[in-house]
Amino acid sequence: MTGRVLAIPAAPGRAAGPAWLHVPAAAAGQASGASADRATAAGTAPSTRAPRPTIREATDEAGHVLSELAAGLRAAGRADEAEILDAQAVIAVDPSLVAAAERREAAGAAPVEAVREAAAGIAARIAASANPRTAARASDILDVAERVVRVIEGTTLPVPTRPSVVVARDLPPSAVVEIPAGMVLAVALEEGSPTAHVAILARALGIPAVVAAAGLLEALASLGTADGTDADVLAYVDGSAGWVTLAAVGDGAAPAGEPAGAAVHSTISAGPAVAAGGPAAGVGPGMTADGHRVPLLANLGWPDDMAAALDAGAEGVGLFRTESLFLGRTASPSEEVQAAAYRSVLAAMGDRPVVIRIADLGGDRSVPYLSGASEANPGLGVRGIRLARGDRWLHLAQLRAIARAADAVGVRPWVLAPMVATLDDVDLFRELCAAAWADATPGAEMPLVGAMVEVPAAALMADALASRVDYLSIGTNDLTQYALAADRGVAALAPLQDALNPAVLRLVRMTVEAGGAVGIPVGACGVLAGEPDGALVLAGLGVGTLSMEPASIGRVRDVLRSVRIPDLEALAEAALRAPDTATVRGLAAELVSVSSSRP
Ligand code: PEP
Ligand code: MG
Repeated sequence: MTGRVLAIPAAPGRAAGPAWLHVPAAAAGQASGASADRATAAGTAPSTRAPRPTIREATDEAGHVLSELAAGLRAAGRADEAEILDAQAVIAVDPSLVAAAERREAAGAAPVEAVREAAAGIAARIAASANPRTAARASDILDVAERVVRVIEGTTLPVPTRPSVVVARDLPPSAVVEIPAGMVLAVALEEGSPTAHVAILARALGIPAVVAAAGLLEALASLGTADGTDADVLAYVDGSAGWVTLAAVGDGAAPAGEPAGAAVHSTISAGPAVAAGGPAAGVGPGMTADGHRVPLLANLGWPDDMAAALDAGAEGVGLFRTESLFLGRTASPSEEVQAAAYRSVLAAMGDRPVVIRIADLGGDRSVPYLSGASEANPGLGVRGIRLARGDRWLHLAQLRAIARAADAVGVRPWVLAPMVATLDDVDLFRELCAAAWADATPGAEMPLVGAMVEVPAAALMADALASRVDYLSIGTNDLTQYALAADRGVAALAPLQDALNPAVLRLVRMTVEAGGAVGIPVGACGVLAGEPDGALVLAGLGVGTLSMEPASIGRVRDVLRSVRIPDLEALAEAALRAPDTATVRGLAAELVSVSSSRP
């Protein structure tokens, strides 16, 4: 059994390995109901001989260890990350935490409970802060408290004993540093936010990570992994696109485009440096063996992903998913903060195109500062451009920030509306763009205005849409979800979530034809564009640009260079007539093997 769980990208890159479930000490204790059991589950067993340290001794010791971890990072040239642990060292000996814990102990609480309760009280106050960065630090307090608890109980942090994908509800930032180097191939969290320290550390250490993977632990449990010792589930994490795939060992049937069991194992033994896409071979622009150009663009989840995009030779940014700037916060980022992010991406790309998608919030990407009520079917609810009707300020402010950033860099950006379903949606988007530009940069050239085609209605209306926009971008992930009525987050429906389904390809073809009829560019930016089979079929269907996570660019470039455009067109025609997805994949594989055996 395999399944994909959607998540929020937190640290770019892809890696695979045995899933190792991190169970926090407190949870393990609650499950077992006994302190000794908890200690064993948490790591080493508690010492029965040495007297337990007092709360003050334990906080001093925790502070000392954190300072040492920070010093180690600093010595390794990681000053920024060292600061995170330095700050934790300060929290550990913070007089208000120590005093609050001691007061609780004096009132009769056991030392461990006293520390946890004191930390929880302080964390709750911090979490309510209006400043999102301050609020995100609540987890640091809880992290420090668990470290103090371990000192009191004489236990150690549980760590994987072989290179693993660390799966957890949430992970203390210090754990990422403390788990021995090389043992963390990737991190996948059910909760957490991209701005949490664990995400920052993972990015700094080059460890792919995803957060907010709703349903991850349940999916893992359904495959049989109950605690950190099991290794019967393989996890494949894409920290750029934002998903995790789980597969039972021996299953061998990884979802399309991802390594099957054996491939995952070889990735593990090669270590995290070898991403699933393999090393990027070859350089230069995307083109077929007979010179047909298919520019290869990068999908970014964060401005920081630019480095990987440039390294991979991206010919532009085909999709900057801006949700990362908005998620995990109690208030929307200011226009200044946003403009700085957009400026950094636009400046890094110079005269290459950069497509900035306005925030696709709502649905499974909800934030507390929007007015929408909770919905029974969030995937079909108020998300993407639909938000602009109730919370017009959100996208207006974002577009103003993009206008300012583009003006400062001196480039013309491409702006993109997600979840377009009707002509009204694009008219609304154009009107928002006009208002934002008039306000922020009066007289400046308008951006190139595009619509995502990811709702089947948009594909069916593509001929009318095409005459109202400057370009179209096909989002094969959602297009597949909505065409097949198969929720992207439901692991059991993974076979239906393969975008090479002929039904989806027919929608792609309609969109390409509509764009071609009025001469506007049509690109694709879903996961399919970064899969070799998918890239070939999309190019054969006439999709003009392919945008993918940077790690996929090398392999897509290579496979494109092995085929000729007439063969791709024949493949696409056959795919459109194919009865099912498996047939399409078979046709693509056949073309690749025939082409690669050609002299
Ligand atoms: C898509 O739906 O294909 C897409 C690119 O958007 P996202 O994955 O961010 O929903
Ligand atoms: Mg989408």
